Amino acid sequence: MADFEKLRPETLAAQALGLIDEASGAIIPSIHPSTTYLRDPDNGYRRGRVYSRADNPTYEQAAALLSALEGGADSLLFASGMAAATAVFLALSPGDHVVVPKVMYWALRAWLHETATHWGLLVEEVDTADPQAVRAALRPGRTRLVWLESPANPLWTVSDIAAIAELAHQAGALLAVDSTVATPVFTRPLGLGADIVMHSATKYLNGHSDVVAGTLTTARQDAFWGRIRQVLTRHGAVLGPFEAWLLQRGMRTLFVRVRAAAAAAQRLAERLQAHGRVDSVLYPGLPGFPGHDLAARQMQGGFGAMLSIRVKGGAAAAIATAAEVRLWKRATSLGGVESLIEHRASIEGPTTPVPADLLRLSVGLEAADDLFDDLDQALNRTGSLR
Ligand SMILES: *Cc1c(COP(=O)(O)O)cnc(C)c1O
Repeated sequence: MADFEKLRPETLAAQALGLIDEASGAIIPSIHPSTTYLRDPDNGYRRGRVYSRADNPTYEQAAALLSALEGGADSLLFASGMAAATAVFLALSPGDHVVVPKVMYWALRAWLHETATHWGLLVEEVDTADPQAVRAALRPGRTRLVWLESPANPLWTVSDIAAIAELAHQAGALLAVDSTVATPVFTRPLGLGADIVMHSATKYLNGHSDVVAGTLTTARQDAFWGRIRQVLTRHGAVLGPFEAWLLQRGMRTLFVRVRAAAAAAQRLAERLQAHGRVDSVLYPGLPGFPGHDLAARQMQGGFGAMLSIRVKGGAAAAIATAAEVRLWKRATSLGGVESLIEHRASIEGPTTPVPADLLRLSVGLEAADDLFDDLDQALNRTGSLR
């Protein structure tokens, strides 16, 4: 068998680490629906698995592949991205201070405001695109965690993972990164100094809009990771074995999917930038974008497949444009093979920091020019209505 340690990530993903089912010789892993495992006659559990709220061979396959792709020591699968993200905060203690981005994935921001503060965390929001703002917010000895999302929903703000990892560590804090949008194809946060990387595996890792899942990967197996594992198994927000199996299958095509979608996103961003009905395009791959130079250093080989456009004519024009598309699907979420369009401000409500004229675009695997043509007719039609 090939020495999988030495192979490139594309190869690891395509063969899901080359695992073969010992009993049958099957080259595709089995799904293990069993909730429980046989105990040895002497009362031990030598095979290491007791009960599927904690242990299941199907979880192990997906987790091992993800650890290899992220360059981590261990990974855990959760019932959703939110379950994974909140487990990191719940592994802290009441009274701990955490630094989070001002603009970030909406539901996590809402949870931090509603639940985490109520539970006793001191949550401080900063503009994480500016490492000096992070430095100023850190309280040595009190700050336990810095949370980043890069590029961050839905303005695609890029944060400097290596610089902020250093600042966080100097202050005695850990750095966790929501890398859902970058994916391990473009960024490996642990290699840049982060301690934990999180994914909404609902998005690119699974990639087919048919599984809700979340993951965490750690740089080290330490006491904090032990607490996170305990949150998972005690709260019980585990992924089922069928979903875990679909997730490992989805990850096998991660590299081709994500690279193709990002190439299409780059082309769309460039064409939309020249569109008369578009006020601005937010995409890290555009040279004029504020985070472009940092993204070019931090992201390897592409800028992701998420972009936003600000439509001339404000909220009404943006909503009308989304109403006129025929090929794009009007839906929330991202990272599937089909392209999605969404007016974010109306989802996020009155406290959102998102501009009212913004449409978020998740670029899938259709031909970029078909996607452009559809948006073009929608933008023009909306323009001529007024
Ligand atoms: C979707 C998403 C989440 C939440 O994940 P769920 O799987 O929906 O719970 C967190 N972060 C980002 C960047 C996301 O896109």
